[in-house]
Amino acid sequence: MDRFVPQRVIFEPAALQYPLGQRLEHHFRQLGVEIQTTPSHNRVTGIPGKTAKEKYVQAKQSLVIGVRRTLKFAACKPSAHYQLPLATSCPGFCEYCYLQTTLGPKPALRVYVNIDEILAQAQEYIAERAPQLTVFEGAATSDPIPTEYLTGSLQRSIEFFADTDLGRFRFVTKFSDVDSLLNTDHNGHSEIRFSLNTQKIIGQYERGTASLKSRIEAAHKIALAGYPLGFLLAPIILYDNWKEHYRMLISDLAEALSGISKPSFELITHRFTKRAKANIERVFPTSTLPMQEEERQFKFGQFGYGKYVYPKETMEEIRDFFEEQIGQSFPQSEIKYLV
Ligand code: SF4
Repeated sequence: MDRFVPQRVIFEPAALQYPLGQRLEHHFRQLGVEIQTTPSHNRVTGIPGKTAKEKYVQAKQSLVIGVRRTLKFAACKPSAHYQLPLATSCPGFCEYCYLQTTLGPKPALRVYVNIDEILAQAQEYIAERAPQLTVFEGAATSDPIPTEYLTGSLQRSIEFFADTDLGRFRFVTKFSDVDSLLNTDHNGHSEIRFSLNTQKIIGQYERGTASLKSRIEAAHKIALAGYPLGFLLAPIILYDNWKEHYRMLISDLAEALSGISKPSFELITHRFTKRAKANIERVFPTSTLPMQEEERQFKFGQFGYGKYVYPKETMEEIRDFFEEQIGQSFPQSEIKYLV
């Protein structure tokens, strides 16, 4: 798929004091992309749009280039100890985007030019927890791949963690532009995960992201490059023929990876909160996502709000199905969890 090119770029003036900020400014000037400035990357005005949908779409075509000043990293349980703040938001239009509720109505993309300071802070967290390992998640607030060709931040992070004894890095993506990472020295310390779904679900609900085929090709390249590899099958959605389609997905994966990788699997069934449903209906008013409360079971979440999940018997059917399919195609792989 084509690389992400924003409609407008919004600089924090301080970002231009960093080599990466200067390089990006030159790049976008050459391209003739509209350039604006903002006093703070957290207070961005100048993104047009009247309706909720227009604002959302315009924000996703806006790239803010700033300096990350808060160097206190958020916790990231259970997938890692800390978030590694490399970027925020992403140009994709997944209707069930996990950032939908946290990023607000104008989820502009943000990248940070002070990657050295961010990694120096990671080093401090690693030292604090020594001699235990410290794991950092690079996709807690973004999909970091679409802006990687501009910033090189993932590559820098992977090289940084390759050199640490006690730091580990992981991130997940729905994109496939991974070539710049293939020759990066990773030392087995960075795990790359791909979030996959059936092509029907991707085509219907994940507009603006890579196709299933290109994600599998990218995973194949990552496996050949020797990275630890993982797959998130998420969100698992039941529809006519779901078993046939997910079976095909797992067998396509097995065919692409047989003998070269033992990926791990994380399985997440579709769920929604009332708040997420309201957001989705505002931004995607014609969405066909299955969100009928009466077809679901209500469950209190760990953060005090309730979510609607598939009923218990359906969950058991899903569990049996995926354990069997993954067990057959990837007998040496671990299913880390199914929720
Ligand atoms: S790719 Fe990930 S971050 Fe981007 S819209 Fe989809 S779910 Fe959200």
